[in-house]
Amino acid sequence: MTDTNILTDKYGRKHSYLRISLTERCNLRCTYCMPEHGVAVSPWGKLMSPDEVFEIAKRFVGMGVTKIRLTGGEPLVRKDFGQILEKLSTLDVELSLTSNAVIIDRYIDQLKAAGIKTVNISLDSLHPTKFKTITRRDNFDKVKQNIDKLIQEGFKVKINCVLIKGFNDNEIIDFIRYTQNNPVTVRFIEFMPFDGNRWNRDKLVSHEEILNMAFAEWSATGVERLVDEAHDTSRNYSVHGFQGSFAIISTVTNPFCDSCNRIRLTANGRIKNCLFSNSEVDLLTTFREGGDITPLVAQAIQAKAPIRGGMSTDESFSDPNNYNQNRSMIAIGG
Ligand code: SAM
Ligand code: SF4
Repeated sequence: MTDTNILTDKYGRKHSYLRISLTERCNLRCTYCMPEHGVAVSPWGKLMSPDEVFEIAKRFVGMGVTKIRLTGGEPLVRKDFGQILEKLSTLDVELSLTSNAVIIDRYIDQLKAAGIKTVNISLDSLHPTKFKTITRRDNFDKVKQNIDKLIQEGFKVKINCVLIKGFNDNEIIDFIRYTQNNPVTVRFIEFMPFDGNRWNRDKLVSHEEILNMAFAEWSATGVERLVDEAHDTSRNYSVHGFQGSFAIISTVTNPFCDSCNRIRLTANGRIKNCLFSNSEVDLLTTFREGGDITPLVAQAIQAKAPIRGGMSTDESFSDPNNYNQNRSMIAIGG
């Protein structure tokens, strides 16, 4: 196997997009992301150091990765985030970031210097009290100010909004209206099941329901279907005349597995070949022993299931045992 086809799995999917989680810690406590009792975090020494993140990422770039997203937990809570960013910016890849934006204002210059142009920011409500309910923290104003700042500073901002029926589905129109004068993409993300996040199929808001709400507000002809980018997990739309756009990501009901190009590296140096997969392959131990991680990467890629980590039918979601073994999103890296 040559270095460039290690990342191609048996279904012909080429994995050129690496999402690196930098930490399992966070300054928010989103209810859908982490269980109420918190998650066990790895001791500091078990996490990849800045040099290890860089060296492992460099191996992946050698295998054909062209895009790296930094995520977490909240990647910005790592004190050495700036150092990691600076090192990764020397690689020949498109770098991007997913953050809750609580402290992103401290990093604007460093993000620019590293060549980051797009940032994905989580925001699940436009109301301070609801923001506090979902994140268990009182940071709404700061996040909103920081989103404005990112826009002013010229970043392309995508807002990730996890929809939970009965909680924030009544804000769908307000979120779309927010794109009228703001050049952002609001991405409605289907609530996914993880260990302890009280997932239930009835809490999902379907693609059709979201679109019907938009059509009722702006008419079917007032909403334009945009062209999606290759490997895009979202279906993109905009309301005529609005500066921004909106998108729908239906991971559970309408998965995009057949064109998936993503692999994840957890903060403690394990490959996770799918968000829904329970299995992980440890790279960091071998890397620290001076061994070759390439066969481990190949093993993880070849073990990737064709659809949702093996949860191939809708019925798979009726049995919590199928997803309760899966670490919470905060520990995987979203
Ligand atoms: N802390 C950063 C943030 O919130 O953007 C980065 C990490 S977070 C785990 C990455 C993304 O995963 C966020 O957009 C979050 O909304 C999403 N996420 C977490 N748990 C989820 C769930 N159960 N279903 C759908 N999306 C989820
Ligand atoms: Fe933290 Fe992001 Fe998870 Fe919220 S979604 S708890 S901000 S890691």
